[in-house]
Amino acid sequence: MCGIAGTINVPLASETIRMMLHALQNRGQEAAGIVSIDGIKKHEYRLKGTVNEFPQEELDALVGSIAIGHNRYPTATNSDGPKNMQPFLMTVDNEPIAIAHNGNFTNIPTLKAQDLTGVPFVSESDTEVFFRLLLRAWRKDLLEKSIIDTLAKMQGSCTAIITLPGRLVAIRDSTGNRPLVWGRCGDGYAIASESSALDAIGVLQWQEVKPGTMVSFTTDGSVITSKEFGDGKLRLCPFEWVYFAQITSNIFGIPVSDIREAFGRELAKEDVLEADLVLGIPDSGTLSATGYGEASSTGTFAPHAIMRRHNTGRTFIKSGQAKRERGVADKFGFATDKIAGKRVVVVDDSLVRGTTSRKITEELRARGATQVHWRIPSPPVIGPCHYGIATKTGELLAADHTVDQMREYIDADSLEFLSLDRFKEVIERHGVSASDCCFACMDGNYWTKD
Ligand code: 5GP
Ligand code: SF4
Ligand code: MG
Repeated sequence: MCGIAGTINVPLASETIRMMLHALQNRGQEAAGIVSIDGIKKHEYRLKGTVNEFPQEELDALVGSIAIGHNRYPTATNSDGPKNMQPFLMTVDNEPIAIAHNGNFTNIPTLKAQDLTGVPFVSESDTEVFFRLLLRAWRKDLLEKSIIDTLAKMQGSCTAIITLPGRLVAIRDSTGNRPLVWGRCGDGYAIASESSALDAIGVLQWQEVKPGTMVSFTTDGSVITSKEFGDGKLRLCPFEWVYFAQITSNIFGIPVSDIREAFGRELAKEDVLEADLVLGIPDSGTLSATGYGEASSTGTFAPHAIMRRHNTGRTFIKSGQAKRERGVADKFGFATDKIAGKRVVVVDDSLVRGTTSRKITEELRARGATQVHWRIPSPPVIGPCHYGIATKTGELLAADHTVDQMREYIDADSLEFLSLDRFKEVIERHGVSASDCCFACMDGNYWTKD
């Protein structure tokens, strides 16, 4: 999962990208990069960290009316070296071409084995393989077609923003696995992974880049949407609603805040637990805790009993278990007075490795909680994600533990998940068919061959 943004014909294009990347920081904090295009000149800057760490003089040097940006979240297959930072940039026919990609291609080993150019790959990134194939397919007179033909060779998940001579294109593969939206921005256009990023720059009217389409925006102001390509089978990622996306975004037609609350309400429906306090793990667990607290007869919702210190980053993204555990302790503050002597129910959006929940149980018990119950408004994650998330097989608690063993591992008095069936029911109630979603990490039905 990464965040991407693009803009064309907007004054201060790179400042606009900076604002959008800032709004998309939830999608990756490992590295940030911006490329701007000024005629046939290109400017680029990338760093390890977040976009707010860009020195002002570097930002000022990113001139041009076309710009794209990328927030990087390292996936299982990619290490975090500078070579892997996006946007990637190449020069073809003396013109700079840049790409920012979100998603993960799964058939990279096969494609790399077929690459007989003898030219070494400079990064470990799947995006570089796509980019290289694209340059091989390059037809100056048919650039959009070259991109669509190249995408047809790839398996996995792709939303991308690409600069071409005199234009900018946004592409979303036919699975629609990751979100991508665009809207009119003054005399130009802006594109972003999430609607909240467009909102941040004042673009309040927007639409999705439809799955299996490419939208081209030219410097003379026209917009061309391609005919649909691909097999038309959608694989929307529900974890966008559960965890990844900003709560202010609308993802796949559903307001994230609505569905997160609904997952929490659903979880409360058949719960007969007796407790005193309902706690939510900020930020991504808070809304489900609100829903759970509203719908359950158990305890009162205490939204501020656990607070999150900002600027500590997402603990999950930190590599190494010890680092992650320290990250959890560093990240949360607890209102000890409220917790002491209470039976608490804790709601977090998901349980993956159990790092967060185990540590938080320990902290709550140390503060005098007499019982600690966990409620998770999404199903157990039993397998890795091949489509852009950094979950690895050996680290998933639910892969080789029963719910009761997980409960024991996190030292909880009880643990319950929202079942996959009820999770799907909530999605359907919000107008998206469950058959249009991917549940591979929850049910093992992976949809790629390689
Ligand atoms: P755990 O602590 O069980 O390893 O992971 C669950 C916690 O990590 C939750 O608080 C969730 O908000 C967070 N999280 C961070 N990155 C991810 C991710 O890629 N997928 C999921 N499902 N949760 C994540
Ligand atoms: Fe989303 Fe899981 Fe599918 Fe990955 S495997 S796309 S996280 S539902
Ligand atoms: Mg969390």
